[in-house]
Amino acid sequence: MLTFEMSAGERTIVEPSRKIPVIDDVDVLVIGVGTAGSAAALAAARNGARTLAVDVGGYVGGTGSAALMCLYTIPYSKTYGICREFIDGMADRGGAVRGPVIPFDPESFKQVALEKLQQAGVRLLFYTWAVDTIVQGGVVKGVVIENKSGRQAILAKVVIDASGDGDVAAGAGAKFVLGRETDAKMRPMSVVFRMGPVDVTRIKAYRDAHPQDFSPDPGHNILDIEQKIVRLDGFFDIVRSANSRGVLDKNIHYLRLYGIAGETGNLYINTVRVYGVDGTKTEDLTRAQQESMRQIRQIAAFVKAEIPGFADAVILETAVMMGVRETRRILGDHVLGIEDCGSARRFRDVIMTAEAHMVPGVEIHSPDGGEGAANDAYVAGIELPFNEFSVPYGSLLPSGLDGILVAGRCISTTHEADGWTRSQPMAMQIGQAAGTAAALSVRSNRPPRQVDIDALQRTLREQRANIILPGENISSPEHGV
Ligand SMILES: Cc1cc2nc3c(=O)[nH]c(=O)nc-3n(C[C@H](O)[C@H](O)[C@H](O)COP(=O)(O)OP(=O)(O)OC[C@H]3O[C@@H](n4cnc5c(N)ncnc54)[C@H](O)[C@@H]3O)c2cc1C
Repeated sequence: MLTFEMSAGERTIVEPSRKIPVIDDVDVLVIGVGTAGSAAALAAARNGARTLAVDVGGYVGGTGSAALMCLYTIPYSKTYGICREFIDGMADRGGAVRGPVIPFDPESFKQVALEKLQQAGVRLLFYTWAVDTIVQGGVVKGVVIENKSGRQAILAKVVIDASGDGDVAAGAGAKFVLGRETDAKMRPMSVVFRMGPVDVTRIKAYRDAHPQDFSPDPGHNILDIEQKIVRLDGFFDIVRSANSRGVLDKNIHYLRLYGIAGETGNLYINTVRVYGVDGTKTEDLTRAQQESMRQIRQIAAFVKAEIPGFADAVILETAVMMGVRETRRILGDHVLGIEDCGSARRFRDVIMTAEAHMVPGVEIHSPDGGEGAANDAYVAGIELPFNEFSVPYGSLLPSGLDGILVAGRCISTTHEADGWTRSQPMAMQIGQAAGTAAALSVRSNRPPRQVDIDALQRTLREQRANIILPGENISSPEHGV
């Protein structure tokens, strides 16, 4: 209970200091059991650490499950480690397709990842916010949480911040960059939604008759009824016509559809775009949610009336979690830049190597809008190659702090480089590396910054991660181990 002590003109409440119970003391504490956090917790436990994973939701998967972002946009052949293991687990149950891109069922991810976490002995605490960070002499010692049971503390030898927003590292005083370096603008938010039933054969007939109406990039233009893969960016002309008639907002330039669907099925629509909002502010998240629902009403009515195959479709589901693309990036020992990615720089302390469907200079989901317009290279302009890039361990180590690693979209990169590292297969590879490093740190009784990098790389390779060291010429663990 707090006493109301508001003095004239001062709108604050005094919260007296109090003791809070320490409910656990673990080796590795993972905050956020989303894309990166699920891989991090699994890797930490498999490598021998007593691991507790905390999430504000009641499920695992974060953006990939609750935000319905259920598509890996790289081919199966370019996936590794725990990411591939999750895909295989889902595909074996019909919940994912091992194709040139990988659509998956978010419910399948929740089940497969949860089972693996439980089998590995990870303990979970759902419906729990991490609200503050416990730091002593620059070393993170644990996290303060809040949930139905009140305010409590959890201590840990190593904390992994996989909250997406870098909440724990920021709470420990880590320096960070919010959004784009030049103006702090962030990529747009989206609420993804699902519609069905859709007659995919009618979409295919339209796509085949109007190839110019779709992205020129083969990876953004996949409709394979036999394999049950839909991943389409386009309908540019129909959307433009709807813009001119006032049926669709002028800043919507294309439709992005994906899902597991044969001749008929349900498709996810990732076309809502809300600009000028900050995912670290609850007022902005609330505004973005309401604006997204307005856009969903408009887009759903439009596709039902005008997109071939959608005549019988209704809205089946809207994501329960806001799709936040960008907020804080924690400043680490190494800030991964576009010059690193573009030159395929090899690092002595590499913890993951991957191939991104990106080129330097191409913006993905620009904070300035215009996505899908004729001058947007990523969606409408060019055929994108796959380019190798690597992430060093230094990008997971917040500068000036120890006892903590970051994983997922809050790692230390620039805004441009984050276009390469932010996708889910990358986030999972980074998560696997963070979890493995945390376990080795505990086992060797050394802080994360002093983990034996050779041992880390060896362990990651043994566990099917992809790592290419300077001077090496191997490109996958199949060849490397
Ligand atoms: C709309 C949208 C479309 C995208 N499209 C694609 C795509 O097509 N393909 C692709 O591969 N990637 C895509 N991405 C990028 C990718 O999905 C994300 O960058 C990636 O999932 C981020 O992973 P993460 O682990 O950092 O965060 P998340 O997966 O979001 O996980 C963070 C977790 O932390 C929890 N959490 C947050 N704060 C706290 C706290 N304080 N206390 C406790 N728990 C907390 C959350 O509940 C969540 O479970 C898209 C992203 C968005 C938003």
